[in-house]
Amino acid sequence: MQSDERYMRLALEMAKIGSGQTSPNPAVGAVVVKNGEIVGLGAHLKAGEPHAEVHAIRMAGEKAAGATVYVTLEPCSHFGKTPPCADLLVEAKVARVVIATTDPNPLVAGKGMERLKQAGIEVVLGTLKEEADELNRVFFHYITTKTPFVTLKYASSLDGKIATKTGDSKWITSEAAREDVHRYRAANDAILVGVNTIMADNPHLTTRLPEGGKSPIRIILDTDLRTPLHANVISNDEAETWMVVGSQVSSERMALYQRSHVRVMQMNQPHIDIWEMLRMLGEHKITSLFVEGGSRIHDSFVRSRAFQEIVAYFAPKLIGGHEAPTPVGGTGILRMAEAAELAIKRVEMVGPDIKVIAIPK
Ligand code: NDP
Ligand code: ZN
Repeated sequence: MQSDERYMRLALEMAKIGSGQTSPNPAVGAVVVKNGEIVGLGAHLKAGEPHAEVHAIRMAGEKAAGATVYVTLEPCSHFGKTPPCADLLVEAKVARVVIATTDPNPLVAGKGMERLKQAGIEVVLGTLKEEADELNRVFFHYITTKTPFVTLKYASSLDGKIATKTGDSKWITSEAAREDVHRYRAANDAILVGVNTIMADNPHLTTRLPEGGKSPIRIILDTDLRTPLHANVISNDEAETWMVVGSQVSSERMALYQRSHVRVMQMNQPHIDIWEMLRMLGEHKITSLFVEGGSRIHDSFVRSRAFQEIVAYFAPKLIGGHEAPTPVGGTGILRMAEAAELAIKRVEMVGPDIKVIAIPK
């Protein structure tokens, strides 16, 4: 129905309000409509707080009886931190529930809809499914793989350099592009760089936006734990820092780094395997990871095929030089047949720079 799409679009707009702050939960929106009138609206804003349906049904009150509920994700059917929304909709005696997409968790998928149908409620599935899946692609990836959704980000000159041959990289892209990067930081659970980037740039790796925004957990891959103790990520407590180290690092050395905001995480092997590390982050409820380089780190993620999206900024500048680093370093591949194949999802201007979003084919 045409009006179904209209109200579902509104529910998606509601869902977007919570987008980026509901982790490890999905962003969900709900709209209650009775006789062509909107009587309830709801968005899930934070894990542990009421689900979108709860807000919307509360707002609708008595009017929920006989109404149609539009919800961007299948209503939950299990007791989590809050009681199941499917039961709430049954109790509120709604007549019809329109759902954009099912819960990807195989343990819950379909169960919410089943509960509604058993109670005699008409259920419609699939209205604006693509938009709803796109909105929660991070959550869906995490739920189905138990590893974070990985975004590789880099800023390069038009000739594909991420620093000069001396390692200077401040700044390649414009302020507008850098602000865009900070928006990704705010939206991700964690941000990751290699120890060489810490040595070269001593970054804070925090979110600095005019409108504010949370700083993600800072993750540093540092096999032998050689990050200087005075590095900004260790000495300032604006955000949590997790140092990932190899099995050979002594407990005495690790103890030197312990701070209330610093945690040292030791792998079982002497080197840091990307997939092992991602599984570990998944166990610690990191659903999204923003990888900011440098080039050796990107190479490891690309070779492991451990990424879901690439965000690349190209500044209208030329750096040149064989020795200036490129976004993906390492030894590279030998034949084109081995290249990581991508599809371009979007291209846009950010100030004077070009932003390209690509996904693996
Ligand atoms: P990286 O920052 O990529 O760090 C690489 C180091 O991380 C390795 O040498 C290694 O050191 C450690 N490491 C631990 N585990 C792994 C793993 N699994 N895979 C890869 N590395 C691992 O270093 P680069 O020298 O490549 O890049 C740094 C340069 O890049 C700087 O000049 C910086 O300015 C620039 N840069 C530019 C950016 C841009 O977008 N323009 C963004 C980020 C950096 P160890 O063995 O000791 O653990
Ligand atoms: Zn729910």
